Amino acid sequence: MAKQRNEKSAASQNNVLDAPALEITTNIGCPLACEYCPQHVLLAAYRLRSSEFMMTFDTFKSCLDKVPLAVAIDFSGMSEPWKNPDCTRMVRHASDRGHKIRIHTTLYGMGSDDVELLAGLSLDAFRVHLPGTGDLEKLDVDAEYLEVLEKVVELIPGARFVCFDSRPHSAVKALLNRYPLGKIRMASASNRADNECSDGKPLFFIGKGAIRCSNSARYNILLPNGDVTLCCMDYGLRHILGNLLLSGYDELFSGQEFKKVCLGFSDPSLRTLCRSCTVFGYHANILGDLCYRVPHWFASYRILRNWPQFIHSIKRNVRHYFNYLRKS
Ligand code: SF4
Repeated sequence: MAKQRNEKSAASQNNVLDAPALEITTNIGCPLACEYCPQHVLLAAYRLRSSEFMMTFDTFKSCLDKVPLAVAIDFSGMSEPWKNPDCTRMVRHASDRGHKIRIHTTLYGMGSDDVELLAGLSLDAFRVHLPGTGDLEKLDVDAEYLEVLEKVVELIPGARFVCFDSRPHSAVKALLNRYPLGKIRMASASNRADNECSDGKPLFFIGKGAIRCSNSARYNILLPNGDVTLCCMDYGLRHILGNLLLSGYDELFSGQEFKKVCLGFSDPSLRTLCRSCTVFGYHANILGDLCYRVPHWFASYRILRNWPQFIHSIKRNVRHYFNYLRKS
């Protein structure tokens, strides 16, 4: 039964960005510290706001009570979700409540018993971020890790696998090759709207005209202290929309910060994060968009190392543009 549900849900995985969603950052201070993830930016910004580095189950429950069921709950956020020992309990609670559930994980902290519990739920997406051949990710590929990975392959047929900026670790590849899975996706890690820049000067900035977000700025992030920030690009916590322990869900989108983000779509002088967003942000004029984006692509050594991703990126931006034309 669980198998059938997950097989069915796999078909919807390509549409995961179509509906509003709340990503859960169950903890701050990711133990993996992948080379391409600006954890230092997040830590510095979060320390100024809170000392709650691990989300409690009660905080999660209180916040979720305010979230409409139409909002999908995505366990990924800005740190490995299963560093929090209550993560599986949180997933089950959100699922019982009736939300669509998406999971993005390296499997760090997940045990075989967690996989068995998750396999019994209806999952909209289950994506595994695999360790690569280099040392970009600090993930031990030991017997315990491989056992959990194999459980995922066996029990969650809708699971997808992605590797960033390198080829999958040889032991992982050998294991996955034993199963009739689709291709492992090779991807280039996002620079998180230039949050990786140590000097704070964005390499990519759309300085003119109207822009759009292909998620309509409705793929937001819940932090361990109940704060909600704009999206998975906002590692510097520049756009905090509110706090779900203190307000309702709709109030997040009627406050000053969200209004500023929306105004920033047409006013470059507000310098919102969206103008540096290479993944979901796009110029409302395709030629204008390409003028900004193409030099950025060529300036990115990662893109040059990963031509399939480069082609994928062109296709995605053309699709964003046509979606925008259709909606406007
Ligand atoms: S930074 Fe990017 S993903 Fe976030 S709201 Fe702006 S355009 Fe959308």
